[in-house]
Amino acid sequence: MKLRFFGAAGEVTGSCHILTVGEKRILLDCGMIQGSRRQEQRNRDPWPFDPATIDAVVLSHAHIDHSGRLPLLVRDGFTGPVYTQRATRDLCRIMLKDSGFIAEKEAESENRKRQRKGLARVQPLFTIDDAAYAMRRFRGLPYDKTTTILPGVRVRFRDAGHILGSAIVELMLEEGGVTRRLVFSGDLGQTGAPILRDPTIVRQADLVLLESTYGNRHHRSRDETIEELAEIFADAGRGGGNILIPAFAVGRSQELLYFMSQNQDAWQLERWQVFLDSPMAIHASEVYARYSHLYDKEASDLWSRRGGGPNLLPHFTLSRTPTQSRAINRLEEGAVIIAGSGMCEGGRIKHHIKNNIWRRGCHLVIVGYQANGTLGRRLVDGADKIRLWGETIRVAAKIHTVGGLSAHADQGGLLDWYDGFDGRPPVMLVHGESEAQAALGQLLSEQHGAAVHIPEPGEVYDLVHSHFLKPSGRAT
Ligand code: ZN
Repeated sequence: MKLRFFGAAGEVTGSCHILTVGEKRILLDCGMIQGSRRQEQRNRDPWPFDPATIDAVVLSHAHIDHSGRLPLLVRDGFTGPVYTQRATRDLCRIMLKDSGFIAEKEAESENRKRQRKGLARVQPLFTIDDAAYAMRRFRGLPYDKTTTILPGVRVRFRDAGHILGSAIVELMLEEGGVTRRLVFSGDLGQTGAPILRDPTIVRQADLVLLESTYGNRHHRSRDETIEELAEIFADAGRGGGNILIPAFAVGRSQELLYFMSQNQDAWQLERWQVFLDSPMAIHASEVYARYSHLYDKEASDLWSRRGGGPNLLPHFTLSRTPTQSRAINRLEEGAVIIAGSGMCEGGRIKHHIKNNIWRRGCHLVIVGYQANGTLGRRLVDGADKIRLWGETIRVAAKIHTVGGLSAHADQGGLLDWYDGFDGRPPVMLVHGESEAQAALGQLLSEQHGAAVHIPEPGEVYDLVHSHFLKPSGRAT
């Protein structure tokens, strides 16, 4: 009974761990590495194991840094089932297809350049067809039900409150009469976050695999965040322009709509036309609508009061086609436009930025993380000019950064969740940068009495004897 750490060991993206129980091998997550171009090249590296020898995948949630290499795994020989929460399965259908589409587009544009230089063509990382093919391996399970997935391996998904369908994975393992309970946090949400229930408190574990994304951070309170948004609406109402909100399609877009619906009177939303201008966010919202039974009480009440989707806001338009999106360009004031991509690097938001950012009275509201080198980051950092499609555009709109909408638990949230365990099970910290892990690790051990380890990629932990084994190269 062994656990080997591959991805998201000492970093945030590319979550992937391999669990061996008897003769069976299970992957926990199969995520894509995200970041700079050079880092993303690592997604093309050969697997450190043979995909054909993996018996099953257990997937914590739909984010691409947890699910994004599944199409590659299947293409490279994996034929087993992918167990996950049902809503995650439905979100993956949208998100993996979108990743395949982006990969095809990127390869196409790269190949145009290479052709001109007389260089060999590149293949996309994977295609839309690869994504569709991988979806056939998915088996959706409900929360809280224990399922035997292989001899000696039972699994139970608990709500992690991070995005719809996100799960804390409990694994009840048995090998040669020895039993162990491994709890993998997946990504944990914030207590009190909108729409979703709070992360489930789990009591029993022999070993906890804990994410540490914000292990050294404290989020601003939700009330302050609502207050900030209220001020932006009031300010924009006086100024006579549009409000642009670049947002990720899954999770953040739905949260924003929820906040708007909840505060529609206070924010005077009857004066605004709200557009969800992203086919992917619309599809994700449809999945959210199908799983309204997974909402927290507040969201369920609002949902039933307003009769669901289209009635959430007074003037609300789902903009699906490019023609519908272009029609929004004609509006010079009174529009709230939620569009991707979340970091303004591509998608419809770039067109809206081009049409609005030079106008005084317009507002750009940043609600998510903006990585270094992205257009969103340049705007947050106060650029007074930007370049779009070869054109220089001055920045006259007001730029706001609203920081309290993270989908992740902060340091306090992670510590509180750990405190829910009986006894003090040992902890392995994954899915975090080194400073975040060091800070969280120190608090866990000094104030919460946990034995903490930060695994290196390739390290192997023996769950029966509770110690690390020497790394031995390829895990065949
Ligand atoms: Zn996530």
